[in-house]
Amino acid sequence: PVAIEAIGLVKDYGEGENVVHALRGVNVSFERGMFTAIMGPSGSGKSTLMHTMAGLDSATRGHILFDGADITEMNDRQLTLLRRRKIGFIFQSFNLLPMFTAEQNILMPLTLAGSKPDRVWLRTLARTLGIEHRLNHRPSELSGGQQQRVAIARALITKPKLVFADEPTGNLDSVSSGEVLDFLRRSVRELGQTIIMVTHDAVAASYADRAIVFADGAIVADERNPTPERMN
Ligand code: ADP
Ligand code: ADP
Repeated sequence: PVAIEAIGLVKDYGEGENVVHALRGVNVSFERGMFTAIMGPSGSGKSTLMHTMAGLDSATRGHILFDGADITEMNDRQLTLLRRRKIGFIFQSFNLLPMFTAEQNILMPLTLAGSKPDRVWLRTLARTLGIEHRLNHRPSELSGGQQQRVAIARALITKPKLVFADEPTGNLDSVSSGEVLDFLRRSVRELGQTIIMVTHDAVAASYADRAIVFADGAIVADERNPTPERMN
């Protein structure tokens, strides 16, 4: 089954002589339970695809079907609710709140939604990510790898169906990267999630089930990975 699908997706920035065609009619569907890497040179449209599919940025033309609805037809309030309930984001820059502890940061999406903290799931995430002993620390007291794990736990605390990750290992050394990517792979399997990850790193992409390559606002390659890095 398809988790999210873009149909004839066009995104232009600016107009007239200064128009930038960031997406030139992209057709792509992402199956449920798949971990996909999106690669391509800087400026090729990777972030724009991710932002429009997440409803953070409006499309110029085309449609985005997610969970039986066309998100290009939703208003801001509907989009906010959709993101809160069904989508998780992992950023390269972590975006943790410095005044709050790791635990408070992880629980923030539930706090903002006015939902009860899910302590059992928090413990499970923290244990699996190896940050149980760091939960009472603030981000400045954590290593880059630990901060990224906190950011991943925060993205997964609501058990989102769809996870967007923008260079999630961009600031990590290769050992931490491997552990984080392994965890994302397992998360896809265990929660039946769909993960779409933008990366410049071929090693990171080797953990994915599929790699899509962008150039100049269009998909130029789309390959299934017969041997993802680790099959555990
Ligand atoms: P990356 O290649 O890691 O996506 P970019 O430098 O391309 O980073 O983009 C960083 C941010 O700046 C993005 O949110 C993007 O939308 C915005 N951006 C990129 N190019 C332009 C531009 N020409 N004018 C205004 N904003 C831009
Ligand atoms: P990538 O993520 O692959 O680096 P982007 O999606 O950030 O590429 O950018 C695709 C194209 O759109 C680039 O030419 C970029 O400069 C342009 N762009 C991105 N965001 C903006 C923006 N907010 N305003 C104007 N141009 C933008």
